[in-house]
Amino acid sequence: MIVAEWKPIPEVVEKLRGHKKVLVVGCATCVAECAAGGEREVETLAPLLRMAMIKDSNPIEVCTNTLERQCEWEFVEGLAPTIMEVDAVVSLACGIGVQALAERFSEVPIYPGVNTTALAIREEPGLWAARCVACGDCVLGETLGLCPIARCAKSILNGPCGGTRDGGKCEIDENIDCIWHLIYERAQARGKVDALLEIKKTKDWSNSDHGGPKRILREDLRL
Ligand code: SF4
Ligand code: SF4
Repeated sequence: MIVAEWKPIPEVVEKLRGHKKVLVVGCATCVAECAAGGEREVETLAPLLRMAMIKDSNPIEVCTNTLERQCEWEFVEGLAPTIMEVDAVVSLACGIGVQALAERFSEVPIYPGVNTTALAIREEPGLWAARCVACGDCVLGETLGLCPIARCAKSILNGPCGGTRDGGKCEIDENIDCIWHLIYERAQARGKVDALLEIKKTKDWSNSDHGGPKRILREDLRL
């Protein structure tokens, strides 16, 4: 899922100075799962913002809404009547949802209420760990389902780097597994260690962020 975290409230307050009526809008999908931007967080943040703005001597009216998905136009459109009644929006969706609102309602300031942090999995309650960075050329088939791009500090394809700690932890953080140690262990368990000894070809990064803004075209889905 896409994981996000609340921005510090003073940062949001600063953006809202001068506004009179604000809509706090959530998204019921990824950011709800990670307890950052679903309906519960929207209804928690709204009164906090109201109080913070009073303390800041800039009282505002705050209304709320939570869309099923803030990254889909059909749901975004449903906000049109409400947006006409406010002079700013705080979106608790990921960066995609914030931009969808800003694109559809370009006449209204749309402020992010969260920082989008990772494509991650919940490892335990309250702890998420990155699993993917959407590199555009997935190598999981060669690394036994463990991602060395998102989960190695150096994103190396022919690991490990030589800095792995005793116990298999990464040299940059004793709390994080060295992913190449895990890849090796899995290969050993499956009798595939020999395959790891083959030097991997240079990865094609042109479809990653390094290749410039991405567009994904699916001719079969086009009208
Ligand atoms: S190899 Fe790339 S696409 Fe595959 S999981 Fe890792 S970052 Fe994501
Ligand atoms: S110790 Fe392992 S995970 Fe950490 S940088 Fe080196 S190869 Fe990558």
